[in-house]
Amino acid sequence: MGTAADLAALIRDRGPAVVLTGAGMSTESGVPDFRSSSGLWAEVDPFEVASIDAFRRDPLRVWRWYGPRIAGLLAAEPNAGHVALAALERSGHVRGVVTQNIDLLHTRAGSVDVTEVHGSIARFTCLACGGEEALAPVLAQLELREAPVCAACGSILKPGVVMFGELLPPDAMLRAELLCREAPLLLVVGSSLQVWPVAGLPNETLSAGGAMAIVNLDETPYDAHAAIIVRDGSGPTLAAVAGALA
Ligand code: ZN
Repeated sequence: MGTAADLAALIRDRGPAVVLTGAGMSTESGVPDFRSSSGLWAEVDPFEVASIDAFRRDPLRVWRWYGPRIAGLLAAEPNAGHVALAALERSGHVRGVVTQNIDLLHTRAGSVDVTEVHGSIARFTCLACGGEEALAPVLAQLELREAPVCAACGSILKPGVVMFGELLPPDAMLRAELLCREAPLLLVVGSSLQVWPVAGLPNETLSAGGAMAIVNLDETPYDAHAAIIVRDGSGPTLAAVAGALA
């Protein structure tokens, strides 16, 4: 176990850090944690609304769930943790962020080097013709209809978020592996490291001789390998770290 002050000292000694973030990073912004029993999946069957098979079978049904969800994500604000990571990147203490989150909160907080291994709501793709659409025109369409369609062929667009049954975007995953392999220090925040292949990323750092630190409320399979574990919320912890390193 450790404190935010211990973590700040570790980053000063062993950084810059690559930061790997999960759902716990965004819960303080009011974004529900997909995996917790009180989260989003307690209310719906994920395979009915967030699997690629469900999308191919009935995209309109998927969009009846996704449309309000996207509006909810955009109504959320970056929290103190997101703001702190952006400041730590500007001061050279953070090399980049690898995130499982699709909510764009890191980018909105000012982080520049963000690798989104589960995709994001910034882009939408057409499975029929390969076309792409950005968020703003999709939001404009959602004011008029339940599901946005491809400008080129009229098919219903798919959110650029990795659905159950889909592979992770290979470019993002390769970049994440490279960042983690080259990281002198990997800082895991708000992820219990249960979801593969992202759960394998700390091995890239550790097997290359890098150090690891964890900020998470729950245990992870890597706790025995962490130089420091802070069992506290990501917002207050990262804000204290950024304050100590400012
Ligand atoms: Zn199309």
